[in-house]
Amino acid sequence: MTISLSEEYMQRLAHAYAGKLLLRQEIAISHRQLTQLLTAHLFTPIQSIQRKRLSHVCQRCGNKRHSLFGMMTCARCKKRHLYCRNCIDMGRVMACEPLYYWTGQQPIWSNVEKPCVWEGQLTANQQIGADRIVKTIQSKNKELLVWGVCGAGKSEMLFQGIEAALVQSQRICIATPRSDVVRELLPRFKAVFPDIKIHGLYGGSRDRSGIAQLTIATTHQLYRFKHAFDMMIVDEVDAFPYHADPSLPFVTERSKKKHGSVVYLTATPRKEQKLNIRRKILPHVFIPTRYHGYPLPVPTFKMCFSLQRDLKNGLPPQAFLHWFKQREQKQRQLLIFVPTIQLATTLARQLKVILPDQRIRSVHAYDANRREKIHAFRKQSYSILITTTILERGVTFPSIDVVVIDAGHVVFDEAALIQIAGRAGRSAQDPTGEVIFFHDGQTNDMVQAVHEIQLMNKRGDF
Ligand SMILES: [Zn+2]
Ligand SMILES: [Zn+2]
Repeated sequence: MTISLSEEYMQRLAHAYAGKLLLRQEIAISHRQLTQLLTAHLFTPIQSIQRKRLSHVCQRCGNKRHSLFGMMTCARCKKRHLYCRNCIDMGRVMACEPLYYWTGQQPIWSNVEKPCVWEGQLTANQQIGADRIVKTIQSKNKELLVWGVCGAGKSEMLFQGIEAALVQSQRICIATPRSDVVRELLPRFKAVFPDIKIHGLYGGSRDRSGIAQLTIATTHQLYRFKHAFDMMIVDEVDAFPYHADPSLPFVTERSKKKHGSVVYLTATPRKEQKLNIRRKILPHVFIPTRYHGYPLPVPTFKMCFSLQRDLKNGLPPQAFLHWFKQREQKQRQLLIFVPTIQLATTLARQLKVILPDQRIRSVHAYDANRREKIHAFRKQSYSILITTTILERGVTFPSIDVVVIDAGHVVFDEAALIQIAGRAGRSAQDPTGEVIFFHDGQTNDMVQAVHEIQLMNKRGDF
């Protein structure tokens, strides 16, 4: 059977479907048309759950764990068969239904001559990073780890590299573990690249189709992609859940084209990444200074002997109240990190009584008003925000002091503590800030975090 399809229609299909692994319901064309496209080998069906030796593998998310497959009686084929539970948030992958992969012509993306309208100035150190990113993009099949301290200005460092890729009509993806970050980056990149189609993909986002030359997505959204991007930028590569879930590195790697390049961004590389740097397996560039040229704030430790008893009663440690009353810059807002949701809410309640002239709120991952509260704190509607580790990364408040209560708790590992300390002193108007760890016994992670911050300041020549 031959079918005639206009060049324009083919390009429209290619833009919509190339580089994706899709369920039938994600393809918005009629049954008759899909049958035609399958016959013409423009779509190729792929068995969605394949058997490899003794185990099954989900072809969408790479899941091989027996416990993450379920069995159910299928409404479509009426048989009992497997489905994948690991990637079920993206729609259920059923063993009897194939995934569809576009095997027609590749989409042709625009090549705007000067897509970037950013007029800011990079610092000398940022320029070194930006040059390495451009070089990585121009050579195929390359990796680069950009290790920049918290507040180095990593997004600005990407602009020239993204421009270089766009000029070559490349397709680009910025993947980040958090939807908060997608929402923060999207308007910034749209302003910097006004003529480029940019989509933000996260659970609940409006532009679900991802038919854009530049995609900013949470790592989970990459389950839909295969060999789509010439350039992958992986933000916060050390962060949960990328770090904890083996299917996420798998889909990130699969989402880029075979000869595509990858740029990883991090402020706190994991042990294995540092080891690969030392072994010279992983090319890297280190940005030791913040964009405003001031050093990273170094945390101070404050011992609280009755910490656990106080927290059990929902009370703040005495040492905290003492510090709060005599802190130097009282006009600064205060961000307080606590280890649990329960402590965030009880401490907020108690502090409102103890400090009646302060406007105090708490926030955590399951807070329905999370986005509004973070926004209101940024607009300085509250003076104190008590938070769990959800605000450890990716967020910027202009002028704050930072406190960790029970810094020795297991949730505060070295990377978390470095990131938390990195929330202070981020703006050029107020480039310093106090960082205090209240604890009832120093942990290795606390000591290592301070050691690492001091080391980075030294490398930045402070
Ligand atoms: Zn799966
Ligand atoms: Zn079935």
